[in-house]
Amino acid sequence: MNVISLHSKVWSALQARRQRLPHSLLLVGQKGLGKFELARSFAASLLCESPMADGLACGKCLACNWFEQGNHPDFRLLQPEALSEDVEVEDGKKKPSQQITIDQVRGLDDFFNVGTHRGGLRIVLVNPTEAMNRSTANSLLKTLEEPSAGTLFLMVSSEPMRLLPTIRSRCQVVPVPIPQGKVAVKILADEGLAQPERWLAMAGGAPGLALGLAESGQSAWLDLMASRLGAGRSVDPLLMATELEKAVKDSKGRLQLKQLVEALQKWLVDLTLARNGLPVRYFLPQQTTISGLADMIPAARLIQSYRAAITRRQEAEQPLNARLFLEGLFLDYRALFAN
Ligand SMILES: [Zn+2]
Repeated sequence: MNVISLHSKVWSALQARRQRLPHSLLLVGQKGLGKFELARSFAASLLCESPMADGLACGKCLACNWFEQGNHPDFRLLQPEALSEDVEVEDGKKKPSQQITIDQVRGLDDFFNVGTHRGGLRIVLVNPTEAMNRSTANSLLKTLEEPSAGTLFLMVSSEPMRLLPTIRSRCQVVPVPIPQGKVAVKILADEGLAQPERWLAMAGGAPGLALGLAESGQSAWLDLMASRLGAGRSVDPLLMATELEKAVKDSKGRLQLKQLVEALQKWLVDLTLARNGLPVRYFLPQQTTISGLADMIPAARLIQSYRAAITRRQEAEQPLNARLFLEGLFLDYRALFAN
């Protein structure tokens, strides 16, 4: 995904800071906007020996070569093991960590104790910053409080409220907004994505999530769910629960119950919008169906069911029984249409 075109304003703002960099920048914004790629491109741009006019790394110099191969001596990426691309889980082995570990943070000491390779910048990219427990974050904080000269921390976070206030206060915040719909649709289309409008809507405007949804084979269950929900009062909640429980099982962990609840929540938002004569936000291809259904439901009942779905979303993390959970969910949905 071309995150530079997607976030051209943020990119210009970052470039404008080249000459007077703070010790740490915190890129914040919702998930799926390309914040990590943006931070990584900025790091490459700063380390490049002859960046281009728009600040992009040249991709040709020695520094760019090192960077692309992942062994630039003045760059460190701090991220959970589970996020690294070459991680393979063998049967019976421990699962890769979802957290940045304290050993990873301590490992930075060596990095800070030697001079930079070309007498330039030293950059640490932390992704995502919220993936640190308290003691790991405190360990990092020591470095943030007494930064060695020429060091830049590029921190990325989708949940800045979960960070230690002491970490947040050491960083200059760079907000990464949801890009304009038109810009995002064009960039997704350039990526070769079919129906970019549809997927962008389903992802709430986050292009990275849209790509993820479209490419991870998620369309099958979403189509199934939309067609069953579209039946309104004729929906068969028990059959629907059976079908979707099977989809969850067959996905081997890629589809989770909470995603089903989230999809239902989006459907309810669309029903509420349609009830008020507004265009739907998420399920674009089902606009007509949703408008037709919305007129059959009393508005108060819709609000109530949305509240219930919020509770269900929490329960979905640890349901006692997936089938019963889904049956309850869809029985509630049919009850919306009761006389
Ligand atoms: Zn270069």
